[in-house]
Amino acid sequence: MVTPRPATTAAPAEPHRATATVRPPRATKPNGQWKVDGTAPLNHNEEFKQESDPLEVRARIEQTYAREGFDSIPGDDLHGRFRWWGLYTQRKPGIDGGRTATLEPHELEDRYFMLRVRIDGGALTTEQLRTIAGISRDFGRGSADLTDRQNIQLHWIQVEDVPEIWRRLESVGLSTTEACGDVPRVILGSPVAGVAKDELIDPTPIINEIQERWIGDPELSNLPRKFKSAITGHPSQDVVHEINDISFVAVQHPELGIGYDLWVGGGLSTAPRLAERLGVFVTPEDAPEVWYGVVRIFRDYGYRRLRNKARLKFLLADWGPAKFRQILEDEYLGRALPDGPAAPVPDQQGDHVGVHEQKDGRFYVGVAPTVGRVSGDILASVADVAEAHGSLRVRLTPHQKLVVLDVAAEKVESLVTELDALGLQANPSQFRRRTIACTGIEYCKLAIVETKATAATAITQLEERLGDVSALKPISLHVNGCPNSCARIQTADIGLKGQLVTDDDGSQVPGFQVHLGGGLASQDREEAGLGRTVRGLKVTADGIADYVERVVTRFEKDRDGDETFAQ
Ligand code: SF4
Repeated sequence: MVTPRPATTAAPAEPHRATATVRPPRATKPNGQWKVDGTAPLNHNEEFKQESDPLEVRARIEQTYAREGFDSIPGDDLHGRFRWWGLYTQRKPGIDGGRTATLEPHELEDRYFMLRVRIDGGALTTEQLRTIAGISRDFGRGSADLTDRQNIQLHWIQVEDVPEIWRRLESVGLSTTEACGDVPRVILGSPVAGVAKDELIDPTPIINEIQERWIGDPELSNLPRKFKSAITGHPSQDVVHEINDISFVAVQHPELGIGYDLWVGGGLSTAPRLAERLGVFVTPEDAPEVWYGVVRIFRDYGYRRLRNKARLKFLLADWGPAKFRQILEDEYLGRALPDGPAAPVPDQQGDHVGVHEQKDGRFYVGVAPTVGRVSGDILASVADVAEAHGSLRVRLTPHQKLVVLDVAAEKVESLVTELDALGLQANPSQFRRRTIACTGIEYCKLAIVETKATAATAITQLEERLGDVSALKPISLHVNGCPNSCARIQTADIGLKGQLVTDDDGSQVPGFQVHLGGGLASQDREEAGLGRTVRGLKVTADGIADYVERVVTRFEKDRDGDETFAQ
């Protein structure tokens, strides 16, 4: 006999099944876009930025930490807000790369700082260069590196000395304001702005206006992450424009004259993406406001929930250039921009090494320090040598090179000879010219391998082995100490990404994953392309020269006519 179920337990089957299987749509997690999701902080970085404007840490450094020392600095200032003033703690010496991922950050960190001096457009007077040299000698154990973003980095800085360093820098018009942090970083500018004979337009007024109006402005001191800018008026497109958040590249418009082609959304690191043209023409007068509009789009719509998705490139990838342009015009400029042509692809993106005529009949001389490593003494000597040859101006390049401007024809040879004696060659081998390296394990807490000395050794070995290397097709070699790509792994013919690798004896040793075939736009390859990882292709740090030699000689042997490495 079947016992009837009590009415109370006879729940209707349909509604029950519906409850079990058809859930209300799950709310997608907010991306932290201020204009869409509100400004409530979604991670600790966002919290500390909102708690106190990171720019305000300067007062605490001057009034407290410089007096009371390293141990008085709380964590959010030390590891967060200090960056807004160009200060990072450097790596404790002697900790090998195998322990980078296993130690706590404070165990990796030294009580000294890297200090990044911001040099918009890479433009320095000899007085400014001598000031940086003096700071290096007095407070930085003589250290100095030219970076691939036209900055100079000093090491071994103690917090007690920072106010005096700022005083010296600011007395000659330099600063460390927003040299790091979630802000508009240094503006890359053509190293030969205003002087090159073949320049289309001088972008210096635009760089100066942006610098004066908005660098250090609290309205832009809390971006989702860093914001990188570049602007060039030189036809060689010498500011690696494809890998910046925003770039202005000089172009001739058939009716409107010379202005700029606007690119947005480039960036490398572990999710590389090339910038895209918005298809607009920007007049020189409009350029500062367009820059201001794009940086505010990033501030208001940029993703803030996840740090590794917080660059502008992710927003551009989701929106596409057409929507990005529309938002820029409708919400930020209040007017449409004219359509514009693309700038012609240059023969080679300019590094300005060598001797070149200026528009005023004098010459500029570009020289190659090995992988950007110089010193306070060398910088002071460059200032002396330049002045002795009638020049008061130098420029830094996005390729870790240095350019002396305004040299009279009859003084060029002597200048070249004296710079050469400092290790700064105006006619370097292709390897010395086209190799760059990031900071690496010597100072960087994220590094897995050494880079600067490793690259310098490889350059010397390659020069010895390959003899007249200038006869070879130029090949770029970019050496990085970890996957973060500060030395642009993916835009080199041969990009090296630092990691531990297994050597022939089965031991774990410092080495590199190889990326091949990357490059920025030039006639060789027509358009920029990101290098690709070759599965399983790794080299040990000691084996770089062997590997490059094999690649170069095989390529030269098999090359079909003018075929380039990228092809
Ligand atoms: Fe440091 Fe890595 Fe950047 Fe090199 S690429 S400077 S190791 S974070």
